[in-house]
Formats: sequence, C-alpha cells, structure tokens
Amino acid sequence: MTEKTTTETFAFQAEISQLMSLIINTFYSNKEIFLRELISNASDALDKIRYEALTDNSKLDSCKELFIQIIPDLENKTLTIRDSGIGMTKADLVNNLGTIAKSGTKAFMEALSGGADISMIGQFGVGFYSAYLVADKVQVITKHNDDEQYIWESSAGGHFTITQDVDGEQLGRGTAIKLYMKEDMTEYLEEKRIREIVKKHSEFIGYPIQLLVTKEVEKEVEEEKTESEEKVEEVKEEEEKTTKIEEIKEDEEEEKKEKKKEEEEKTTKIEEIKEDEEEEKKEKKKVKEITKEYEELNKTKPLWTRNPEEITSEEYGSFYKALTNDWEDHLAVKHFSVEGQLEFRAILYIPKRAPFDMFENKKKKSNIKLYVRRVFIMDDCEELIPEWLGFVKGVVDSEDLPLNISREMLQQNKILKVIKKNLVKKCLELFQEISEDKENFKTFYEAFSKNIKLGIHEDTTNRNKLAELLRFYSTKSGEEMASLKEYVTRMPEVQKNIYYITGESKKSVASSPFLEVFKKKGFEVLFLVDPIDEYAVQQLKEFEGKKLICITKDGLELEETDEEKKQREEEKSKFENVCKIIKDILGDKVEKVQLSNRITDSPCVLVTGQFGWSANMERIMKAQALRDNAMSTYMISKKILEINPCHSIIKALKEKIDVDKDDATVKDLTILLFETSLLSSGFTLEEPAGFTSRIHRMIKLGLSIEDSPVEQESEMPSLEQVPVESKMEEVD
Ligand code: ADP
Ligand code: MG
Repeated sequence: MTEKTTTETFAFQAEISQLMSLIINTFYSNKEIFLRELISNASDALDKIRYEALTDNSKLDSCKELFIQIIPDLENKTLTIRDSGIGMTKADLVNNLGTIAKSGTKAFMEALSGGADISMIGQFGVGFYSAYLVADKVQVITKHNDDEQYIWESSAGGHFTITQDVDGEQLGRGTAIKLYMKEDMTEYLEEKRIREIVKKHSEFIGYPIQLLVTKEVEKEVEEEKTESEEKVEEVKEEEEKTTKIEEIKEDEEEEKKEKKKEEEEKTTKIEEIKEDEEEEKKEKKKVKEITKEYEELNKTKPLWTRNPEEITSEEYGSFYKALTNDWEDHLAVKHFSVEGQLEFRAILYIPKRAPFDMFENKKKKSNIKLYVRRVFIMDDCEELIPEWLGFVKGVVDSEDLPLNISREMLQQNKILKVIKKNLVKKCLELFQEISEDKENFKTFYEAFSKNIKLGIHEDTTNRNKLAELLRFYSTKSGEEMASLKEYVTRMPEVQKNIYYITGESKKSVASSPFLEVFKKKGFEVLFLVDPIDEYAVQQLKEFEGKKLICITKDGLELEETDEEKKQREEEKSKFENVCKIIKDILGDKVEKVQLSNRITDSPCVLVTGQFGWSANMERIMKAQALRDNAMSTYMISKKILEINPCHSIIKALKEKIDVDKDDATVKDLTILLFETSLLSSGFTLEEPAGFTSRIHRMIKLGLSIEDSPVEQESEMPSLEQVPVESKMEEVD
C-alpha cells in the first residue's frame, strides 16, 4: 500500500452485523449456495451495465466484454468471483455492503429462527453475506466508471474497511469478490466441485461463466538438446511479454475485435520443459505444459428460445430457481410464443409461496425480465404486467421492441401494451389449469388469493373470469371452501341472489345473528373474512347473473311468500310507535329504527346503509386510520337498528312503552339493547365503561343486591350523563 491511500473503517449496521454472526456461527452444511449468490450478484451487475450501455455505448469502453470469471487459487486458498459488471463506487460500497440494512435483513433472521433454511438468503436480498459461510475474510475489489478502484474488506467482527486500490491489478470495470476460504472449505477450490455447483445453481445465467482451469499437456517439440536450456529462457521471456501485451490489449478494443479468436484464449502459460534423453537423439523432446485457461461452464441456450416439447420439467425447475433465487420448485409454468403482427416468447412461473414483502410499497412491481432479441433489458418493467400479477415470475423476449428503449418510451409503447394483454390472458389460463388440481389450487389460493381479489377490483375485463377462482367458507361449506359456481348450483329454486356476510374471522361471522333467517330458509351465506373481500365485492356486484347481496346492509329483500309479507305489514303498523320511541332514546346513534325481516332468534341487530360501510369495513378503516395516525378523519357507518317483533324482549319492551313511554327502565334497556347489538353485529363499543355499568346494574338486579345511593352515583352514571350524540359525525 502506498502512502497516498488511507484506509477508512466503518461499522456494520447492527442488524447486518447480527446477520453475519448468524451466518458464521450457525451449523449449516449446504454452504455451496454462496457461489450461486455471488454469481447472481455478478449477473445483476452485468445486467445493469448492459442496460446503461443501451443508451450510451461508451460506458462499455472500460471493458467491452461481459463475463463472470471464477478463479480458484489453491496455493493461497482464495476463490475469486470476478465480473465486468457495473462495479461499485465508494459510496455504493458503503451503502450496499454494510451500513444500510434492507427490510430483508431482519425478515431473514426472523425466518431463520422460524426454521427457514439459510439457502433462502437470496430471496431476502442479503445474499452477499453468504460469502461468510465459506470465507473468514472477504475482499471486494471494485471499479465503477464514475469512481476509482476500491477494496472493501472485512473479516466480520462488526466492521469493514475501504481503501483505494492503487497498486492492485486494475479491473477496468467490474467487481472481484475475493474469498479467503476457511481452513475446511477448500473443497470449493476444486474444479470438479465448482463445475458441479455452477451446473446445479447457475446454469441459466445469461453471461459466460468462465472457470480458470489448469491443464497439463504433453507436446512434442523438434529441438536439439543443446538449445533446450536457451529455449527455457526464451519461453519464459515470451510468456512475460504475452502477459504484458494482453494487459495492453484489454484497453485496445479495436485490436481485440480483430483478434477475437486469439483473445478467447487469454491464457497465461507456464511451461516446464523437460529434457528427454531418448528424444534428444532424434532432435525431438517432449514438453510437459501446464496451462491455465478459462473454460465456459454455462453454454446452454436461453431456455425460452428452445422448443417446449424438448424441455424437461427439471430444466424448467432449475431455470426457475436461477431466475428467482427461490429455493423451492415452482407451482406451475407456462411457456409460449406469440406470432403475428407482433412476436415474442415468454415463460411464466407461479411460485408456491407469496414473497415475504408482497404488498410492500417500495417493492418492485414486476417480476418479469424483459429481453429484446435475447438481450436483457430490465427486470422491473411495470408496463409489462399489472400490479396484481406482480407475483408471477418469468421472462419475456420481444422481437419487435427497439434495443435502446428507455423507461419513458416503455410507458406509452404500443407493443408493450399488447404483450401485457397477452401475458394477462396466459396467466388466467395458467390459473385455470392450476384450479384443475385441488391440492395445487389450495396452495395457489393460500398464497395469492389477495392478488386475485385485487385483480377483481382492478381488472374490469377479466373480472368474471377471476371471480370463478374465488373460494369462500360459508354456512354450507364445511371445511372445504366453496366456489361461487358451487354456491349457485346448490341454491334453492326460490333463491334469487348470492348472499354474503363480511367480518373479521370465520368464527366471528359464523355465529352472527344476521344468519338466522338464512339458516331457517336454507339459503347459503358466504363468509367474506379477508379485508380485501370488501373491496373486491364492491366491484364484482354479480356472478352468473345473480346479484351479490350483503346481508348486514339495509334494504335486504328476501324472497318471501305472500303470507310472510302480509304478516310483516301488520306488525309494521303495530310497532310503529315502539320504533319511534326507541329512535328518540337513541338519538343520533342510529339513522332509523325499523322492523327486521332477517332475525328470528335475536331481539335486534344493527344494519348499515346499502351503499355505506359495513361494520367490517368500519373496523378495517379504523385499523387503517390508527396505523396512519389519522384517527380524526375516519368515517363511521350509518346504522339502522332492526328489531325482531317476535322476540320476547321486544314484546315486553313494547308492553312497557305502551304503559308509560317515559319509564326510566325503558331508556336503560333500550341503550343496553343497542350496545349488545353493536357487539353482535360486528361493531365496537364506543363507551365500554357506560356499557359495563349498565351490565353491572343488571347483575345486581339478578343477585338482588340493593344499592346504596352513594354507590349508585359512583358506579352508575345516569343515562343522561352518557352523551347520546355521536362524537364522530358523518363526514361528507
Ligand atoms: P441483492 O443482490 O438482493 O441486492 P445482495 O446482498 O446479494 O443483495 O447484494 C447487495 C448489494 O451489493 C447489491 O444490491 C449490489 O448493489 C451490491 N453488489 C453485490 N455484488 C455486486 C457486484 N458483483 N457488482 C456490483 N454490485 C454488487
Ligand atoms: Mg444478491
């Protein structure tokens, strides 16, 4: 190190430091995955420079060829993974390798403690640190076009250093990750082992992966003994020259092109010349030559360019893993090409699980890699697939797009719009195929039902197709979720609509008083207990011509007989006064009070306006407002109290009212009824304390405890003290 350069020391961000200790100390045998991770990073870095070069070709001047090299050094026990990718500036080194934790850092550690496997590391965006599975010291030597060459170095222990690299071999551009292998990790320096790992994990990397291999060949050279000594010297000199020339050549790109064949061999030759007594007489000798040369390990054609019929499922599997860093196989795959006024090929995969950060805002919205005539363009093109299909992974290779396409151009590109439409169509076909296998569909639905529902919300054209994929528990489903199709097939003839209830959980809705009349009539009710269901169903509105009706909302028109109707009309007039008095007592707490046609066993329920929020929606919005710290702005639903004229409590209340509408217990009981309805209808209590006092008063009554006047005051606020008007008024 020359005096000019200084070494700066940085502390790893705490979580990263913790992660590194975990990687170093966890007993784990499948360490080979470090190579996959480093090769994947190299490939990403190459993608980046290639993309930049599409609009500015001079960016490649610092090194024209795009490659990944693996250089084992048995003598020094180091393994170097070098790429001619984008490289890192000093700031990149600081930010990307140690001082800024990604969300995946913590998530990965949590996953590990939950039994996840270390090989999943790549999915969490911290794959680089897997280097510490096999190395106790790592150097990252890197050169970015915009900065000098630097060396990042760390032996873990909470810190790393960065030093400008003045004296080392200059890379031109790119990154060399030099691993100082642990004592017992030298197997990863063996050619055979490296070949095996690359074949297993990195076969489909789109850049040549070149392994520096040592070869020993015997050559016959016509030579005289006397000259052989001289020759050795000559060869050595020659060799030195070549190395120098090669270094110069790296800069002389034109020359390089011309001599491409020669170039490919970029070898450093070390010749050991052996004298051979027998050969000497014939003026010939055998030369044992040890050469080191790069050998390409991944010569496979891009998978999507091949004929699907000739591709095995194993090949699709390893391509998927290479593409996504997933440790598990895919659930389903579709490989197709589109021809006609536009031409492209694609492979789409459905994973088995949702990613840990599926709906995180900052996350990239697309997992489809875009290629143009086999050249990688970008891996996060949002114009390629709608957001709700963001979980679909794969590649698209277009024949028609221009190579130097910019992000801005992509936004209005017509070709891309057509591709997108086709991808959506193929995804739907793929989902349909998955749904033909019960087990697979279960896996799929568990992982991606939210996406399907989001699709229903967003995609008007495909809404009906997507609705076929929906599955819900219901009053008749038992343990297996039911599709809307199944629902429709088992509807009794008189039933016209599809009924559903929304709520927090299957358990909470299954015992809801709203179900009473439906159970009696034998009408099935779907349980919509995923928050997103509320949104999806608002857009869906109907299925196969049948309206979707929320049973907790006002205006429920049940299929009833003429007799039932007549009876209801009669009761209506009988209870008109009761409804009016209850409304007076409850004031603004309810919009109105009316007789119910939906409850048979409960005295009353609270329904909400037909176009307003359900109790469940109110719960969701409150939770969201709490999360966003916007408590004051949330809206509350309009509530309508429905009473059951056949219920003994309501009947008795009516009698009391008929005798004396100002009876104090009437008020007390009415409010209590309202509050219990809040709970049973899925709302939350706004004043639990008042409710509790009222219940306590009931308990005392039940236990025949007589209150002293003092106690009465402190424990039971009189009803007048309880503010009747709602604090949260409707915001229009
Ligand atoms: P991920 O690859 O998921 O981003 P990693 O932990 O594997 O996470 O890598 C962290 C970051 O370090 C990368 O995002 C990239 O910015 C940088 N990096 C790692 N390896 C290289 C490389 N060979 N060339 C350029 N940058 C790299
Ligand atoms: Mg990575």
